[in-house]
Amino acid sequence: MARYTGASCRLCRREGLKLFLKGDRCFTDKCAFARRGYAPGQHGKNRKKVSNYGLQLREKQKARRIYGILERQFRKYYEKAETVRGITGENLLRLLEMRLDNVVYRLGYGNSRSEARQLVNHGHFLVNGKKVNIASYNVSVDDVVTVCDKSKSSEKFKTFAENPKTLPAWLSGNTENFEGKVVREPAREDIDVPVNETLIVELYSK
Ligand code: SF4
Repeated sequence: MARYTGASCRLCRREGLKLFLKGDRCFTDKCAFARRGYAPGQHGKNRKKVSNYGLQLREKQKARRIYGILERQFRKYYEKAETVRGITGENLLRLLEMRLDNVVYRLGYGNSRSEARQLVNHGHFLVNGKKVNIASYNVSVDDVVTVCDKSKSSEKFKTFAENPKTLPAWLSGNTENFEGKVVREPAREDIDVPVNETLIVELYSK
């Protein structure tokens, strides 16, 4: 699956907030946004009046960039969200949260979603006992995500086990036993991404 391969920090500067795309570096004073908190490019410092369309576009771009998804695939998520019962914007965020790379990140493997995605692509995880190396794989309620036996002894995974993250309420398990479970679908209040999904729906429903 195609992915963005350009400079991550430019994306934060463009969106005007820290998207935490680079793991540990985002918490240091090397963070490009902390140093230059304005849009990239020659005219980045010039303030511009943003139209309604501009606001909607930025919100959509922000969501895409947080989850590391290109436009075509993001649009497909939106189309799917429209067909599911409930509020389209919340459905969209729920679909994005239930991607395997995001679940792995939420479980505490990887300092960023892109690192989690790489771990999935490299075949370190099993879903219900079966190896899955597709980052966009959509997990379901009651699915169990485990680290494959070979990877458990690696230094990287030992580090994850020693530094467990606080899990969101819709996931259970811990990194110490290398296992996590999806206990329910995430509700909007469980999803802590700084995105106004209503603006995305407004943009796509034009
Ligand atoms: Fe964004 Fe992290 Fe780069 Fe800072 S270091 S600009 S938060 S990706």
